[in-house]
Amino acid sequence: MAESKVVVITGASSGMGEATAKLLAKDGNKIVLGARRENRLQDIATEIERLGGQAVYAATDVTNDDEVEALAKLAIDRFGRIDVWINSAGIMPQSLLAQKKVKDWDMMININIKGTLYGIGAALPYMMKQKSGQIINIASVAGHIVGPLSSVYSGTKYAVRAISEGLRQEMAQAQSNVRVTLISPGAVNTELLSSITDEKVKAGTEEFYKNFSIPVDWVAQTIKQSIELPADATWNEVIIRPTAQQM
Ligand code: NDP
Repeated sequence: MAESKVVVITGASSGMGEATAKLLAKDGNKIVLGARRENRLQDIATEIERLGGQAVYAATDVTNDDEVEALAKLAIDRFGRIDVWINSAGIMPQSLLAQKKVKDWDMMININIKGTLYGIGAALPYMMKQKSGQIINIASVAGHIVGPLSSVYSGTKYAVRAISEGLRQEMAQAQSNVRVTLISPGAVNTELLSSITDEKVKAGTEEFYKNFSIPVDWVAQTIKQSIELPADATWNEVIIRPTAQQM
C-alpha cells in the first residue's frame, strides 16, 4: 500500500470528487472534502469513516477565496499538512454564444477558472514550505478542442490548462518538489449535465452521454495512479476518454 497522504478535494460532493475521495480513503489517505452541499459532504465523510477511513469536510464555495482558504486551514488544523489538492469543482452550462447567457458565462468563469486559482493559491504556501505536494486540476477534452455550444466552457478549461502549465514551470523553477497534474476527461457519467440550463442542449448532451460516457471510477483510478507515481516523476497531462468517443 502507498504511503498515506492528506488530500483536499473541491467538488467533493458528487461525481469525480466523491469517487476519488472514497477510493483514496480506502487506501488510508486522510481526506478533506469541500463543496457547497454540506449534507452530501457529511454523508460521504460518514461513509468513509464507517469503512475505517478518515475524512473531514467544510461547506465551501470555490468562488469565495476566504472559504477556500478555510478549507486549506481545516486540513492543516486536523491533519498537519496538505500533500495533494484536487480542484474538481466545475460546471458545464453549455449554450450558443448568441443566446447571451451571461449568468452561465459568469458562473463558469468564476467556478472553473477562479475556483481553480483560489485552490492553487490556498495550497501552495503549505506545499512550498513542506517542499512537497501535488496540485491536480480537472480540465476536460474541451480544454483541448472547441466546438459549437462549448465556447465558454472550453475557454475555461483552456485557461485551466494554461494555468497548470505555468504553475508546473514555476514550481520546477523554484525547485519546490510540487507536482502539477492536469487530468482531461472525455464524457464521464456524473451529475455534470444538471448544470446545463438550456433544455434542448441538455437533452442532446444527455443522449450523447447515454451512448458514450464511462464510469466515474475510471477517472478516480487515474487520479490515484497519478498520486502514487514516485515523487521525482509526474504525469503532467492525462486525457482519459471513452474509447468510442471521437471528439
Ligand atoms: P459533478 O456535477 O458530479 O460534480 C461537480 C462538483 O463541483 C460537485 O461536487 C459540485 O458540488 C461542485 N461545485 C460546483 N460549483 C461549485 C462551487 N461554486 N463551489 C464548490 N463546489 C462547486 O460533475 P463532475 O464530477 O463530472 O465534474 C468534476 C469536474 O470534471 C468539473 O470540473 C468538470 O468540468 C470536469 N469534467 C467532467 C466531465 C464529465 O463528462 N463529467 C468531462 C470533463 C471534465 P456542490 O454543488 O455541492 O457545490
